[in-house]
Amino acid sequence: MIVDKLGRRFKNLRVSLTAACNYACTYCVPNGKRLLKAENELSACSLLTLTQLIQAAAGIEQLRITGGDPLVTPKFDDFLLGVAALPLKDFSLTTNGQLLLSKADVIEASGISRMNISLDTLNPLKFKQIARGGDLETVLKGIDKMQALGIKLKVNMVPMRGTNQDDILPLLDYCLDRNIELRYIELMRMGHLTQGTRYQADFLSMQHLLDEIGTRYRFERTDAPFDSTAVRFHIPERGYFGIIANESEPFCTACTRLRLSSDGFLYGCLSNSARTYIGDLVDLPSHLALPKLQKILLKALGDKQLAFQGETTVMKFIGG
Ligand code: SAM
Repeated sequence: MIVDKLGRRFKNLRVSLTAACNYACTYCVPNGKRLLKAENELSACSLLTLTQLIQAAAGIEQLRITGGDPLVTPKFDDFLLGVAALPLKDFSLTTNGQLLLSKADVIEASGISRMNISLDTLNPLKFKQIARGGDLETVLKGIDKMQALGIKLKVNMVPMRGTNQDDILPLLDYCLDRNIELRYIELMRMGHLTQGTRYQADFLSMQHLLDEIGTRYRFERTDAPFDSTAVRFHIPERGYFGIIANESEPFCTACTRLRLSSDGFLYGCLSNSARTYIGDLVDLPSHLALPKLQKILLKALGDKQLAFQGETTVMKFIGG
């Protein structure tokens, strides 16, 4: 097992199935153009082979399928069912929820037990303004469908000053009413947000969110697992919410995440664009691929930072 000085090792693998997305969210894409797939994306089969190699070399326990949006690619069904057959403790999915209804059968067949759905507002106009694609009603129906299948849901919201600030409480109410855990994600300085003043203008801190939530609810901070990225809170008799406080309370020193992009690059850290191509390992027998991968993983672990610095890498390549 590869472990660094801080006791960090890779336990969670996030696989970006495609860079393509049916949204063009303002915080992810600068020009409003939908994201296309990467130039040399790997097939579902190759990504599964790499996943198995990484699992063998690093002792991965959990896997999250992400993107782009993972549901937009024809690879989704094969990859999801392939992952479901792997000996993992847990696998999950992050999606914007736009295609959940059309993918409900394969999702049910996979036996997936939990999922994160990104939703930044309950206002249809604001939804169009932020996502620049899709529609709110379809996402809400998708959420209902996933709950009807018994899948445990979290909703991801990125609160931004002057855009969806008014949704901080309505989204919390919506989630609490449905036994869904809301995760507020502090805006991250990624991609185009590393330039100009937009990031500073839009950023809302954990304290800001807590102050606002405190106007309606009494809550207390509660335990979260060692390598959880979220600070978690309990509202007695109502439920839980979390804040991924990249800036206010960075979780880098406990990070166990490793990322594989759709075009076969391995990233050890979201705050570091260092990456290594491993797509060529699929053609090697495992006794030759594994020692090479061990070396690459050691380097990737060394790429981890002590705090989130901001990174020009666009989220679409590595899926957040
Ligand atoms: N398309 C899928 C989705 O919408 O969930 C998966 C990929 S998306 C990159 C994963 C998560 O990253 C989403 O919840 C999105 O809101 C979040 N995200 C993207 N850019 C971000 C940024 N600059 N700051 C904070 N969160 C961001």
